[in-house]
Amino acid sequence: LLDQESLTEGDAPIPEASRAPSYGLVALVGRPNTGKSTLFNRLVGKRVAIVHDEPGVTRDRHYADAIAGNKRYTLVDTGGLDPESDDPMRQGIARQVELAIAEADVVICVLDARVPITPAEHAELGLLRRSQKPVIYVANKSDNPRLETEATDLYRLGMEQLLPVSALHGRGTGDLEDAIEAALPKEPRVEPPSHEGAIRVALIGRPNAGKSSLVNRVFGEERMLVDSRPGTTRDAIDTLVERRGHRFLLIDTAGIRRKSKVHKEGSPIEAVSVLQAIRAMERAEVVVLLCDAAEGVAEQDAKVLGLAVDRGSGVVIALNKMDLLDRKTMTKAEEDARDKLSFAPWADISPVSAKTGRGVDRLLDHIANVADVYRRRVSTGELNRFFEQVLATHPPPTHGGRAPRLFYITQAETSPPLFVVLASDPEKIHFSYRRYVANQLRKAFKLDGVPVRVKYKARR
Ligand code: GDP
Ligand code: GDP
Repeated sequence: LLDQESLTEGDAPIPEASRAPSYGLVALVGRPNTGKSTLFNRLVGKRVAIVHDEPGVTRDRHYADAIAGNKRYTLVDTGGLDPESDDPMRQGIARQVELAIAEADVVICVLDARVPITPAEHAELGLLRRSQKPVIYVANKSDNPRLETEATDLYRLGMEQLLPVSALHGRGTGDLEDAIEAALPKEPRVEPPSHEGAIRVALIGRPNAGKSSLVNRVFGEERMLVDSRPGTTRDAIDTLVERRGHRFLLIDTAGIRRKSKVHKEGSPIEAVSVLQAIRAMERAEVVVLLCDAAEGVAEQDAKVLGLAVDRGSGVVIALNKMDLLDRKTMTKAEEDARDKLSFAPWADISPVSAKTGRGVDRLLDHIANVADVYRRRVSTGELNRFFEQVLATHPPPTHGGRAPRLFYITQAETSPPLFVVLASDPEKIHFSYRRYVANQLRKAFKLDGVPVRVKYKARR
């Protein structure tokens, strides 16, 4: 009855690809004004998911899920990612290119077909050409055939393939999607059998939040020192341990420590950490955001966590370095974090100290609990009883003369959970009522730590 196809139609902005494995990370690079953010929006299109209630946080995204053919991937606007890109001295594409070559699976180099190439750009193109990464060159602003031919200046640079595109008008974007699909790895990353059942955790957070220290605390120093190969990004190194009666797989442990090894003077370290976080999140069930309690939650933290929530990931927030704060300041830090992460009020906030080990066991217990919720299937019987209760106590209000009727509810997916409600007029069910149902579901089934996604589908 509820086959995949019927799930993808309808009104709710739930990404049909949320469960699909990711084929990797695609980075847009290019000078300012070449049209990267326009192209970003074009490629992501309607697929930007907004599952959370609070507006604001997800605006102005520089990374989002997109689909090319049958492959889901994460698109990153590297230009928008660099917090210092406002600085005119840094507006070269050198930093973006360096970042993209290190972290992305595919690079899309966006050039302006109407403007001659600058010497600096020329140098960066050379760098890209010499890299081992698949690079797709785009001559953007080719709004019509005449402009397309005007891009000859670009053609002379000898790229193997240069796609004329108009991000603004959608011209050529189909060909671009085909090129992306072809350039992405053939298969998504699969988990080896030895990792089966282990709780897949991505630890994210800004530089100096204490990620390496926490990993050392949980996994042991020796385990962490084995990997010293720099730049082996595609073969991220995961670490498996058993703690508190659970097996935890920490994704891309090498990436967490890599900063000290490849971080060069002047390279965009924030941007590197964001890309590493996004990579790790692709395979995670639970995303742990670690913040320095004294520093608080940064805007970047909130944005990255927003992406995790869009994907339906479980979320735990940990405030580190509690050993440095008194109780009053710690409480203040927790309130502040709640405030900044208001789109995930259901996420647990754990105070920890990677240094002393305080709170770490509790944090692990929380992660295990969230993973359990993430994988849980609520039985149909329980759901039916729940639904009768909701309809009896708080039926959908009348809307334009007639109240929409709700027929039944079912859990269509687990890992992450997705509920589907069959209704007479889904479009008439008010946002506040949807929120009510989601909250009731969370309460009734103790769905702590994961976004509760409910899709309303028409029954005719
Ligand atoms: P970014 O700095 O690389 O992210 O560039 P933006 O996406 O902000 O675009 C810069 C300007 O170029 C904006 O005014 C866009 O509307 C415009 N632009 C982007 N793509 C196209 C296009 O395909 N054709 C035309 N004519 N203008 C475009
Ligand atoms: P990362 O960049 O997120 O991996 O952070 P690190 O683990 O390298 O830690 C950054 C700095 O914070 C180091 O000097 C650590 O010793 C320090 N640090 C990490 N955790 C704690 C903690 O719980 N308490 C205190 N006082 N310092 C910590």
